Amino acid sequence: YQPAIARDGVRIEVVANIAAPEEAAKTVDAGGEGVGLLRTEFLFLGRDQAPTEEEQAEAYSQMVRALNGLPIIIRTLDIGGDKAVPYMAMPAEENPFLGERGIRLCLNRPALFRTQLRAIFRAAALGPVRIMFPMIATLEELARAKALTEEVRLELGADPVEIGIMIEVPSAVMMAEELAAQVDFFSVGSNDLTQYTLAVDRMHPVLSRQADGLHPAVLRMIDRTVRAADKAGKWVGVCGGIAGDPLGVVLLTGLGVRELSVSIPSIAAVKAQIRGLSMERARALAQRALACTGAAQVRRLR
Ligand code: PEP
Ligand code: MG
Repeated sequence: YQPAIARDGVRIEVVANIAAPEEAAKTVDAGGEGVGLLRTEFLFLGRDQAPTEEEQAEAYSQMVRALNGLPIIIRTLDIGGDKAVPYMAMPAEENPFLGERGIRLCLNRPALFRTQLRAIFRAAALGPVRIMFPMIATLEELARAKALTEEVRLELGADPVEIGIMIEVPSAVMMAEELAAQVDFFSVGSNDLTQYTLAVDRMHPVLSRQADGLHPAVLRMIDRTVRAADKAGKWVGVCGGIAGDPLGVVLLTGLGVRELSVSIPSIAAVKAQIRGLSMERARALAQRALACTGAAQVRRLR
């Protein structure tokens, strides 16, 4: 339950990735300092019609209450052609991971998107809620998502909330300076960022082992993202699997990542690790990792 403060005084927020209402209370019990990623897909999958505004507002509110003042980042719906959602009538796609996924699907189905945003704003009246858009690839997508969010907010007369985006597409990294000016924070979705950077399907039965998020190509993407965010005075978190990897913890914090969002069982270990960490050493190791030629070399760093 102690804060994750490194030996030289740098504080890292350690928060949880969750995907069910009861996991909010479990986050608090496990020492989590909030929720860094609520995957809202659980409300939409395995059923034959979309959840109503009421149903969603109830689920989000329950989590906000359980967190008792700790922040929660609610990610808007992130499904795509690879998951069957019968009531959405999604046409089959040849390349679903390059198709109508994440924010693209929501922008093409504004009624669905608005319902979710209304439910999120209702829950935001009860505690610190932040909204995060997945799979942002362009400034245009962000502008459209923000405009719709603002329309919904005004309709409800709700207070503004912080808005962030996931950085999980290489184009978002390359445009990070411009994107940073338009948001309050970034959270790196390293699972997808790795898949799209290395062009390796994260679920591939043979190749997925090559999709190592600590590959220097991915670390350089994250480095670029952090430097762009720093210039704009915005913070960066990581919510992909490498945030809970012991070497990932050192390298990411060494690159300037300020928030790690991990699975509930990893929270205590990540906090304990940071409390024993020298940020000076982490920065030095991160610089060496950026200079490596491949993931295996990064994995051998000591
Ligand atoms: C990611 O892509 O790293 C991420 C956290 O999102 P998801 O795993 O839900 O795609
Ligand atoms: Mg993702």
